[in-house]
Amino acid sequence: MDISVIIPIFNEQANIEALYQRLTAQLATMTLPGGFELIFVDDGSRDESLRMLQALGARDARVRYLSLSRNFGHQIAVTAGLDQADGAAVVIIDADLQDPPELIPALYAKLREGHEVVYARRRSRQGESWLKKLTAKAFYRILRVLTHIDIPVDTGDFRVMSRKVVLALRQMPEQNKFLRGQIAWLGYRQASVEYDRAERAGGTTGYTYSKMLRFALDGITAFSDVPLKAATISGFAVSGVAFLVMLYTLYTRFVTRHYEPGWPSLMVSILFLGGVQLIAVGVIGEYLARLGANVRRRPLYLIAEDNRAATPGL
Ligand code: UDP
Ligand code: MG
Repeated sequence: MDISVIIPIFNEQANIEALYQRLTAQLATMTLPGGFELIFVDDGSRDESLRMLQALGARDARVRYLSLSRNFGHQIAVTAGLDQADGAAVVIIDADLQDPPELIPALYAKLREGHEVVYARRRSRQGESWLKKLTAKAFYRILRVLTHIDIPVDTGDFRVMSRKVVLALRQMPEQNKFLRGQIAWLGYRQASVEYDRAERAGGTTGYTYSKMLRFALDGITAFSDVPLKAATISGFAVSGVAFLVMLYTLYTRFVTRHYEPGWPSLMVSILFLGGVQLIAVGVIGEYLARLGANVRRRPLYLIAEDNRAATPGL
């Protein structure tokens, strides 16, 4: 198998047929003596997506689909696909045609030049709200400042990678997946190709702001200790100031005996310290929650249905 294409699907009934046509048309233009497979991962869709994938699977032997038992989220859906991919090269692509299948030959050609990962970098993004573009831009920059590893900015999961990278990813058991960070962490020779990100072809985004926030926190906590350290440092700084103020208060109370009743300053310091403590506890909580998830080692996902379930070794 030369190429496995992994496509996460969450309520994409409007796009599946067009995507299938464009993908197969594009892959047919490439020289792939070993052939290719399309791995659709249905991430608990509530529309006709699964029925459409079943029909595609019946019609085309190169189509593989798995259906997760509920909505586990984009990153886990892609991970499920990676666990099943047989190809010497693996492509990750969104189902909504925002990532043009026409870019795959260029990505693949660059991979064959001797890279292990070739990711597609967005030159521009169309049809997305200013808030989404702004939060995405800010997030990539903040992450860059906070981490030691070089996570490319303005890059999603649209990329092609070698089997070596896929096997390495399978060895990374962490529960809160942030694939683009994990792949950057792996190292090897990586390259990029630029493209203009199109509008979503049909349907609506499956990435709500709450999913985006969770994703951003997963990325930061998995690849940076800076928030944890910042909480500790600011905790010490504020406590130091509070200690000096306390000495001053005692001094005015017992030595000069010239003091204000102190109600405002008392309230302010109590509230301020309370706030700082809450922030610190919150940051620790974020890490603890993830630590807990990794200690539990639950399976990342459960496959409810698979059109090649009979294959030995699965
Ligand atoms: N997706 C998924 N599970 C989810 C949300 C999204 O598998 O919970 C898929 C979705 O079908 C698409 C890809 O992930 O193929 C990217 O999602 P989307 O286009 O909704 O995100 P956006 O482009 O708006 O960031
Ligand atoms: Mg999209």
